[in-house]
Amino acid sequence: MAYKIIASQCTVCGACEFECPNAAIRLKNDIYIIDPKKCTECEGAFDAPQCDAVCPVPKTCVPAG
Ligand code: SF4
Ligand code: SF4
Repeated sequence: MAYKIIASQCTVCGACEFECPNAAIRLKNDIYIIDPKKCTECEGAFDAPQCDAVCPVPKTCVPAG
């Protein structure tokens, strides 16, 4: 299970990048992407997915499944 970023809604603010406990979020070709192989949905690290928690745009960091 992993989260994804809805690129069409992302403002590329960068807030999520450094909140990820697994360094799963990075900028690629001027858009932020989540590496599904690194994303754990923050299990064991936080009570809620931190990318979603800090993202200023609602429903932009969402479950990929
Ligand atoms: S859900 Fe957690 S582990 Fe996955 S990308 Fe977001 S901050 Fe990183
Ligand atoms: S916090 Fe949200 S709007 Fe900002 S870069 Fe991450 S996904 Fe995009």
